[in-house]
Amino acid sequence: MTEFLIYSKLCFIDGKFIEATLYIKNEKIHDIFKGRYPLADVSFLDYNNLIVIPGIIDAHVHINEPGREHWEGFDTATKAAALGGVTTLIEMPLNASPVTTTVDAFKLKQKVAFNKLHVNCGFYGGVIPSNINSIEYLINEGVFGIKGFLTHSGIDEFPNVTREHLETIAPILKKYDVPLLLHCELSDANIPEVNNPKSYKEYLCSRPQRWETNAIELAIGIQQKFDIRVHIVHLSASNGIQQISQRKKETTKLTVETCPHYLFFNAEEIPDAAPIYKCAPPIREKQNNDLLWDYFLNDGFNFLASDHSPAPPNQKQLESGDFFKAWGGISGLQFTLPILYTEGQKRGLPLEKLIPLLTKNPASFLGLDHKKGLLKKGFDADITVLNDTQDITITESSIQHRHKQTPYLGKKLKGKIEHVFVNGFQVIKDSKIVNEGKGMMLFRN
Ligand SMILES: [Zn+2]
Repeated sequence: MTEFLIYSKLCFIDGKFIEATLYIKNEKIHDIFKGRYPLADVSFLDYNNLIVIPGIIDAHVHINEPGREHWEGFDTATKAAALGGVTTLIEMPLNASPVTTTVDAFKLKQKVAFNKLHVNCGFYGGVIPSNINSIEYLINEGVFGIKGFLTHSGIDEFPNVTREHLETIAPILKKYDVPLLLHCELSDANIPEVNNPKSYKEYLCSRPQRWETNAIELAIGIQQKFDIRVHIVHLSASNGIQQISQRKKETTKLTVETCPHYLFFNAEEIPDAAPIYKCAPPIREKQNNDLLWDYFLNDGFNFLASDHSPAPPNQKQLESGDFFKAWGGISGLQFTLPILYTEGQKRGLPLEKLIPLLTKNPASFLGLDHKKGLLKKGFDADITVLNDTQDITITESSIQHRHKQTPYLGKKLKGKIEHVFVNGFQVIKDSKIVNEGKGMMLFRN
């Protein structure tokens, strides 16, 4: 099917829901007609009152291939993405092995991803102390940004950098206007001794808000000094909001994301010996998360991203229950939209406000906003169709991630992704995969 029409009473166009017909041709949204607009000899997909939105863009995903594809791989991750209405994702430079810190590693990653992409996929490069000289080459190869840690990443091949390293690469980032993505935790030794490694409270206390706010101060300092783009990934500490919003009033070059798990779970509900909930920075108390929600509702976050970072059950220490030995990372790529829609309904978040945070805004951050993130004439035909009246229950059989373990297992959520189109091909029909390998590799510029 090279040309077809998608009709709905609820197409998300120009920031509102309108009745429209999208004419898809040659992998693009060739035209948009108001109302119901059949064309002779062109197949007509009548979605009636389902919600038709641009495909979701998830700018923060860990796929782990090559080297740790037993954690998660391109095939399973991009199938999960497709089922979740995610039509584009950007892959982090860790936790694959090798990590994406050299051009050779980047080329190897492209080689292993080839033929396994069911949605569009781009990549970030990483900065570590030993690859400062590779940064410009990685940028020239088309990475969408450079990611660094300010504390131990959990992966020995991806050591953290210091202010000095970041200051060394800042002029290169400035030259190409490429964002520096920072994991903002700045560790210090001033933390309580661990008595019970199965205690969530003790794990939470081991990564205090202070670590985040100290790192954010460093990040903002570098942003300001070099006038470069700096992106704070996965903000969890509400104490950081004031610093960030202050600087955001002065520049658009500082950006910030948070993730569904910080908005859906609260520390008070997390049982002991349940490291399935472990991530870093940690999921904090309800009072903190309510402040993240306020910031979200007040347009503070530039976009939302899953930070999908799964690991096998033994790495998650599900048997021992040891939070301190467990791999930190939440698996949830497939469920971002229903999670946020469900929790958002309780918090007065209209879909009109949520959708751009998952589509237009990440497209703009990635420099893809000339072709992705909107239902617009001439744009790529990446389209997601949501049934907002249907509930889903997350069961092991519904999860397409490499591993079924996720803190969302058993949750009942609002909103079912029914149909998904990637580059003009229907990849998901009636919530099932019907077409494989339609994703494309994306490169900056
Ligand atoms: Zn991450």
